[in-house]
Amino acid sequence: MSVPFIDLKRFEEGLLERWNEKVSQLSATASFIGGAEVAQLEETLTQLTDNKFAVSCANGTDAIQLALRALDVGRDDLVLVPNMTFWATFEAVVNVGATPVTVDSDLSDGGIDLAAFIEAVEKYRPKAAVIAHLYGWGTANLQQVRDYCSANNVLLVEDGAQCFGTQYNNESIYKGALISTTSFYPAKVLGAAGDGGAVFTSDELLAQRARQLANHGRTSHYGYGLVGWNSRLDSLQAAYLNLAVEFLPHRIESRIQAAQFYKTHLGNLGINQIDAPAEYVENGYCHVGLIDNIDLKQTIEAALKSNNIGFGNIYPGAMSEQECSKRYMHAHVGGNQAQQICSTVINLPVFPYITSAELSTVVDVVKSACEEK
Ligand SMILES: *Cc1c(COP(=O)(O)O)cnc(C)c1O
Repeated sequence: MSVPFIDLKRFEEGLLERWNEKVSQLSATASFIGGAEVAQLEETLTQLTDNKFAVSCANGTDAIQLALRALDVGRDDLVLVPNMTFWATFEAVVNVGATPVTVDSDLSDGGIDLAAFIEAVEKYRPKAAVIAHLYGWGTANLQQVRDYCSANNVLLVEDGAQCFGTQYNNESIYKGALISTTSFYPAKVLGAAGDGGAVFTSDELLAQRARQLANHGRTSHYGYGLVGWNSRLDSLQAAYLNLAVEFLPHRIESRIQAAQFYKTHLGNLGINQIDAPAEYVENGYCHVGLIDNIDLKQTIEAALKSNNIGFGNIYPGAMSEQECSKRYMHAHVGGNQAQQICSTVINLPVFPYITSAELSTVVDVVKSACEEK
């Protein structure tokens, strides 16, 4: 049996019919930008993230750029970024005109390395920092990072593209952030029928600025208070998200069970399976294993390939190792744990409604590859 790394076509019963119905309605009234669907989505997002404001936008990369620009981060400002994250985190900093300083990652949870983070703040006095909550959870030291940043006047942006639905100390992970972002790219935990994103904050001024920037910096239809750009979420995406969000608890439950299945069945095989730190309830975004033995990693990956089982390496390369990043970076602080994760990481298939037969197939293939070694 082949198993995809991700399958987005496993829609809940009735979802596609309701979606088609909405598309017909919105098309018949040509309601394509703004309107009730966008307003409803933003209201739901404020509730789910326990923030006062949610500003929808075109994608998760724009959301980070909007958050940085709302904080007035721009030309010549230094901004700390994790050395291991999706490229968009780094890119967003460069795109607003600021200069990234990469900071090492923590091997135990993939989050920011706290000691390196503090060293970077002391050494470079950056205006801001972006941290990324990867894999469906955040760093074990999140509260320390938040407190340290507010005590040292570092504006902290939390890239929450992978942590929609994650709980930190029994609250939405987005709740305690100064400003945070998410992505509705279809493969994310709350995925749209295309691209989308949002900025969350409880600071009214930041929310206003983000909203204004996402709509050309407008103060009136042809009056401009800021130079922004067009980063509006369209009404069809909002309509899809309003449907999808109803099913979110089921999707998350299914993801968590899948990730848990691997953890219980693949212990003691030389794969260091990373768990969310104790302060978190994860959203099941992905499974994470680190395999120090490179021979074993290659054997497992070859077995998965020959059995048509999808897998991921999130992420295969650190920010500081990318072909162009040296041209933009000011410095790197800390060691090379990020590179160590990048060269040892493997992710097994996790997506909503993956079947138990599929999960067992994956486990059997990985187990027999390990026993062969
Ligand atoms: C997906 C992702 C983004 C970018 O989101 P897009 O909607 O694809 O622009 C940014 N950061 C992280 C950590 C992501 O996983």
